[in-house]
Amino acid sequence: MGCALSTDSRTAGSDYRHLSFWHETAPDDWTPRAGLPGDRDADVAIVGAGFTGLWTALYLARAEPSLRIAIVEAETAGFGASGRNGGWSSALIPSSLAKVAKRSSREGALALHQAMRASVDEVIRAGQEEGIDFHASKGGTITLARSRAQWTRARAEVEDARTWGLDEDDVRLLDAAEATDILAATRVRGATYTPDCSAIHPGRLVRGLADAVVRRGVDLYERTPATAIAPGRVVTANGILRAGHVIRATEGYTATLEGQRRQMVPVYSLVIATEPLPTEAWDQIGLRRRETFSDHRNLIIYGQRTADDRFVFGGRGAPYHFGSRIRPSYDRVPRVFDDLHETLVDLFPVVKGVEITHRWGGALGLARDWTASVGLDRGTGLGWAGGYVGDGVTTTNLAGRTLADLVLGRDTELTRLPWVGHRSRAWEPEPLRWLGINAGLRGMKWADHEEKLTGRPSRIARVVNRFIH
Ligand SMILES: Cc1cc2nc3c(=O)[nH]c(=O)nc-3n(C[C@H](O)[C@H](O)[C@H](O)COP(=O)(O)OP(=O)(O)OC[C@H]3O[C@@H](n4cnc5c(N)ncnc54)[C@H](O)[C@@H]3O)c2cc1C
Repeated sequence: MGCALSTDSRTAGSDYRHLSFWHETAPDDWTPRAGLPGDRDADVAIVGAGFTGLWTALYLARAEPSLRIAIVEAETAGFGASGRNGGWSSALIPSSLAKVAKRSSREGALALHQAMRASVDEVIRAGQEEGIDFHASKGGTITLARSRAQWTRARAEVEDARTWGLDEDDVRLLDAAEATDILAATRVRGATYTPDCSAIHPGRLVRGLADAVVRRGVDLYERTPATAIAPGRVVTANGILRAGHVIRATEGYTATLEGQRRQMVPVYSLVIATEPLPTEAWDQIGLRRRETFSDHRNLIIYGQRTADDRFVFGGRGAPYHFGSRIRPSYDRVPRVFDDLHETLVDLFPVVKGVEITHRWGGALGLARDWTASVGLDRGTGLGWAGGYVGDGVTTTNLAGRTLADLVLGRDTELTRLPWVGHRSRAWEPEPLRWLGINAGLRGMKWADHEEKLTGRPSRIARVVNRFIH
């Protein structure tokens, strides 16, 4: 496939277990299924067996059991971001309500928001229906404010939500005492809290979904990288998969497909996990309902308390690589792991001295206009979903249900949501792409330094955010 998931990442089954904490602790040996055995025909061909591809296959197979559905996966199901993420199944999408409304309408933006809230429950419902135990706990998300600038941002977020008619059930402001009662971090001035998030074990969910679709008769061909996607066919080294509908579900890896180099860029997010902490430590820290957590800084961080009482804690800051290259070595950046560890200790001094047992990372997908989308071109039969940035765990479920409706030609509430059919413009050619993305990443880091010094919301962040939201 001329790419990235190239031979150096071709791994024996058991080696996939070293990709992340989730890979290691999913009850599965990750042995890839057989590859595409030669030319084949199907009704629907899906490229990529992450959450997008698997949810799409699952809802299609449920709705129309007679459909011949085939998935080709370059490595093994859950190899990509779906197996490696922070395990937040949230109602977030990478665009603000204002940005969605600008492209559609106020009603459209609110409908998408409500569909995302409902999808948080649907992930749990659908997973349970398939008998998947993925350690889900819907404790919501607490986003702390730990400086004057962060507190200003927290209040502004809640004020903005009220202008959209979103009430306390959606997002609310907590004072320092209320926030600390949920999560006792250092320097807490307050927080925002939303109930719309579950902490999950994504490795268990993605492998459970792969088993579920196979049980329902979907052909899942692993270690079968597609080199090109065209109307009616998926080209692989093993043979050609022909189908009336071809769905691209390759997210951060999309640039590795012929002719798609500037559709989506891979941006890296990195994660660490601690050893399990003793009960006394959690008595001090909190997160009793396994709330996911973050704070209102500019360079995103995200954390959860796992079912076995570890911290899983991640963040951005790893560089974008020239030419949208993806390499296994880019998953591990010691400087970023050190920063994450330092930040975790700064938040919770009690973890100083606690062992970091796992370090990993992965590529997420970013469209030029930072807008996630899903769609199907009726003329060509080509469909897609992606551009979720760091908010794909739940969004992929909504995308999968929407793609199923689109493929089946159904006009539903889902197919009328404003992200359906949206197309971002292409990314700039290099070196502009490299310069722009890395300047943005640096800018957010500087913005946090600036806020520490001045106590005021950063001007740099305002400039960068103008490009994003
Ligand atoms: C470190 C990290 C932390 C994150 N944390 C969160 C979080 O806490 N909450 C949240 O909502 N989102 C999070 N995200 C984002 C979220 O994980 C993704 O948006 C989501 O999993 C995307 O799913 P996907 O199926 O579209 O893509 P992927 O899971 O990346 O799946 C794409 C699949 O396509 C395969 N593939 C690629 N190229 C080809 C090809 N040519 N032929 C065949 N197969 C191919 C890959 O091997 C891969 O299995 C995080 C992402 C990362 C990397």
